[in-house]
Amino acid sequence: MKINFYGLDLNNLKEILTKNGFRPYNADQLYKWIYENDVTDPDLMSNISNNLKKFVKETFDFSSLELLTHQTSVSGTDKFLFKLNDGIVIESVLMRHDYGLSICVTSQAGCSMGCSFCASGLIRKQRDLSKDELVLQIITVQRILGVKISHVVVMGTGEPFDNYDNVMEFIRIINYKNGLQIGARHITVSTCGIVPKIYDFANEEIKANLAISLHAPNNELRDKLMKINKVYPIQDVIQATKDYFEKTKRRITFEYILLKGVNDDLRHANELSDLIRGINCYVNLIPYNPVNEFSYEKTDEKRADKFYQQLIKRGINVTLRREMGSDIDAACGQLRLKKEKNEE
Ligand code: SAH
Repeated sequence: MKINFYGLDLNNLKEILTKNGFRPYNADQLYKWIYENDVTDPDLMSNISNNLKKFVKETFDFSSLELLTHQTSVSGTDKFLFKLNDGIVIESVLMRHDYGLSICVTSQAGCSMGCSFCASGLIRKQRDLSKDELVLQIITVQRILGVKISHVVVMGTGEPFDNYDNVMEFIRIINYKNGLQIGARHITVSTCGIVPKIYDFANEEIKANLAISLHAPNNELRDKLMKINKVYPIQDVIQATKDYFEKTKRRITFEYILLKGVNDDLRHANELSDLIRGINCYVNLIPYNPVNEFSYEKTDEKRADKFYQQLIKRGINVTLRREMGSDIDAACGQLRLKKEKNEE
């Protein structure tokens, strides 16, 4: 069995090489060829010895993920479905922004968090994704489109803090300077609010961005929308974000989906602004992407704008996100779900 190259951070690679009689700097050379130039054929690596070429050929696997479907939306969002070695299907979404290309990666096959509005939770967690499966989402999309991805959001299916170690290893691998070189400021991890992991995340060496899926301004409502709130109630989440800021000095994002008649009243906007007042943060208001299995509806634009204006009036930094890719179901497990349904 060959070792998947994309699951190795630089230290793992150095260890393997030195154990086999090679030098630590050979790992830097390989990283540079493979990540910076996507050259995976050792015969094309001009600065390494024949012995090392032979070893690389025999030892490492560089295969892309298996592509099942690729859809492009009118807004320039691309959605990919990949099949993993054990048959599990995952999705990755590429978004084009004026600041670069951003990929939304999946961190788990299915999700056990059970948020009442989210399509991902309709397929319960099958397993965590490995670090190489996380890295390969980036590598494969880059290869298919012939592009360089500059930004990464861990906001696809799954709860990244429920697969904490692999997600952190993934960040280390993609951040490395001779590798993909994706800067910590260009990496965002989104959590439903697993409080102890927010503290762990604050202590990580690589200070990636943190986004919190809040979606409600009080426990009563959040309990109904997000099961995790019963384990980690809203005040603990808010305290953790304050402590996170103290430690990292990095601004937090709060995500807030607008659900018609549920959390989109002006009194919710007021309550939200009271809750997060004084925190260095901004709020990302997200239009709800309707999911057939649920009865939630999207807040209309006028009402969304009122909510937005109210937060501004109360001094909150806020953005009202435009929709991207809803015509190709590029939201939260929806395409994958459709595929599984068609196969039933
Ligand atoms: N588990 C993590 C990351 C995955 S979800 C988290 O909860 O943050 C990424 C974001 O998409 C979350 O804010 C989630 O609440 C939101 N989301 C889920 N279903 C959605 C839907 N149908 N429409 C819009 N946003 C949705």
